[in-house]
Amino acid sequence: MRKVVKFGGSSLASAEQFKKVGDIIRRDKERRYVVPSAPGKRDDSDTKVTDMLYACYAKAEAGEGFQAELKAIQARYQEIITGLGLELSLEGEFQTIEKNFKEKAGEDYAASRGEYLNGIVMARYLGFQFIDAASVILFEDDGEFAAEKTNEILAKRLGKVEKAVIPGFYGAYADGRVKTFSRGGSDITGSIVARAVRADVYENWTDVSGFLVADPRIIEAPPVIETITYRELRELSYMGATVLHGDAIFPVRREGIPINIRNTNAPGDEGTWIVESTCQKSKYVITGIAGKRGFCSVNIEKDKMNSEIGFGRKVLQAFEDYGISFEHVPSGTDTMTVFVHQDEFMDKEQKVAAAIHRLADPDTIEIESDLALIAVVGRGMKSTRGTAGRIFSALAHKNVNVRMIDQGSSELNIIIGVSNVDFENAIRAIYEIFVEVQL
Ligand code: ASP
Repeated sequence: MRKVVKFGGSSLASAEQFKKVGDIIRRDKERRYVVPSAPGKRDDSDTKVTDMLYACYAKAEAGEGFQAELKAIQARYQEIITGLGLELSLEGEFQTIEKNFKEKAGEDYAASRGEYLNGIVMARYLGFQFIDAASVILFEDDGEFAAEKTNEILAKRLGKVEKAVIPGFYGAYADGRVKTFSRGGSDITGSIVARAVRADVYENWTDVSGFLVADPRIIEAPPVIETITYRELRELSYMGATVLHGDAIFPVRREGIPINIRNTNAPGDEGTWIVESTCQKSKYVITGIAGKRGFCSVNIEKDKMNSEIGFGRKVLQAFEDYGISFEHVPSGTDTMTVFVHQDEFMDKEQKVAAAIHRLADPDTIEIESDLALIAVVGRGMKSTRGTAGRIFSALAHKNVNVRMIDQGSSELNIIIGVSNVDFENAIRAIYEIFVEVQL
């Protein structure tokens, strides 16, 4: 058995947290490949090392002094090294970083040092080999992640190493320049490593005991989702559930490797299993609820729209021309509505409306703002009668006016549009009917 374990920033924020991580790894000798994030926040008022690095490099880039900021970052690592009682000096590494900052090595290089240095500390602490991600995680010249090339090189390299630490979040172009994934990208590195070593499981250790059925800021103490499929997770992540980076499932998904979300502070908890497919029934008809505020709808009307071939394409062309992606497009006989992110759309609304008039010649266009979308996701919905009926009667009982309904053909989710002001009420109503009442 082979396990890849990734630890998030809060799991590595201090020497105390490092010790918990060390215990977790030593408890199971199959935990052989470790992917660390940079040290995160020690408490709510703290700053993540990655953010400190961005701020420090911004000064270097502007030609200002940045030594004090760099010293503060060095102190974060020194505190961990001292707390762990390690014989390790990062002095030489920090001299190199200072030199490269002066030479303006780039923002990605700067941010990546958080994981790079934490990887060195972690490898020393565990007695594992350190492998710089820049030598095994590769990017194409256009910035795309080079999945196949990476897999080949990484598999070969790790095939010869019994136990290793590979820092998360970054890799390099063919010429050696460092490039990072988007924020939270260490989750992706963990998945890439799991694929390369054909791991039996990819354990992703964080500070919560898995995905919750609903947002705990809205619902008090919702239960943990025990098992969720990759596809369900995509739907929930897209709608705002943020435990795992949205792209982290792709490398393991093609190999059928399950992801297990675990809690460093409660290692006895089973966490959430993310799998390709399962015959495990979820406890409730729905697997989870997630949602986002801040959408606009553009309602377009034209008599006999239904018989005009190409009308939809012309309307969407107007959005494409201004670089705006659309979320949902429900339609009626003579109406079509396009849902977009309000902050993306606001500055361009009049231009887009003019383009729709020019391209599609509609009768009227009406824009509505301050809408929220809620996704009710569940593989069980397909085989259960009346799910939609229950959702809408629960919403009606709570006086929530439904502005839009969209059920994907996969029957994996139902998307509901409501006013921003009704957002939390709507989530509570849906949660109550499926989780609390379980009618
Ligand atoms: N340290 C990086 C960030 O803060 C990447 C990660 O933690 O996954 O986004």
